[in-house]
Amino acid sequence: MTEPDFSKGAAYVRGQYMPIAEAAIPITDWGFLRSDATYDVVTVWNGAFFRLDAHLERFLRSCRRWRLDPGLTPDQIAAVLTQCVRLSGLRASYVEMICTRGQPPWGSRDPRQAVNQFYAFAVPYVWIANAEQREEGLHLAISDVQRIPAVSVDPTAKNYHWNDLTMGLLGALDAGADSVLLVDASDHVVEGPGFNVFCIGHGTLVTPAEGMLEGITRRTVVEMAHRLGLPVEIRALPADELRRAQEVFISTSGGGVLPVTRVDQQTIGDGRPGPITRRLVQTYWDWHTDPAYSVPIDYAA
Ligand code: PLP
Repeated sequence: MTEPDFSKGAAYVRGQYMPIAEAAIPITDWGFLRSDATYDVVTVWNGAFFRLDAHLERFLRSCRRWRLDPGLTPDQIAAVLTQCVRLSGLRASYVEMICTRGQPPWGSRDPRQAVNQFYAFAVPYVWIANAEQREEGLHLAISDVQRIPAVSVDPTAKNYHWNDLTMGLLGALDAGADSVLLVDASDHVVEGPGFNVFCIGHGTLVTPAEGMLEGITRRTVVEMAHRLGLPVEIRALPADELRRAQEVFISTSGGGVLPVTRVDQQTIGDGRPGPITRRLVQTYWDWHTDPAYSVPIDYAA
């Protein structure tokens, strides 16, 4: 028998590790049928997890919010994630943990009777922006699609209610933009598919206060700003203020701090990634070597 090939990624499904191409869930899992699931994504850079504790803490908070039980302690989850990365051998990886509702007994529509399931996988690092976009800056469109109201689906608990984000993204791509930002009912920008947003005016960083996931990278940006002595305002961010900002960037585990140089038809600043954004990009990657934030993976174990 040939050895399994984990080089494209490894997954953990119902107690078993397997190559990513073999990982599957039952079609009747409500995670699939109802988007009834939660998840989190932590990254591995240079062979170490970045801010693993923060991602585990948010994952378990999201589970509690949706009344899902992964059935594992934080240490057990960390061990599964580590084993997925170890099997893959990846030094730069996108590592996802998922808890789905599972299925209630056949015929029952009572979610309390479902057996929740835990899944995980590690695949090569995912960038939301390609190398040229990271260098030149992204072009974002502000969509007229509103993000699902927070009173309906709590955006601070990670979820797969992405139809609004996906429809907004399709519209933006069709219009020639690289990605999209959604707004709330008051035309304040909230977030995009997989990222938070910041703008800079007169040296002050501004990021939305509510209506979006509280990204771990957003938290890192706020901490970096404090360390660098840059003022931060966390408050509602009108779409027009963003269009007129001197600098704009997005924050995400899929690439850290990513510059934005165009919003709709408006060029931001001089059309090049701004000096504060570039400083934050540099600091973000520098912080990956800080032992306070990184947990090295023992690939040989
Ligand atoms: N907003 C949404 C909807 C997301 O899915 C994500 C990340 O997956 C983010 C924001 C950014 O969060 P983080 O910085 O933790 O990756």
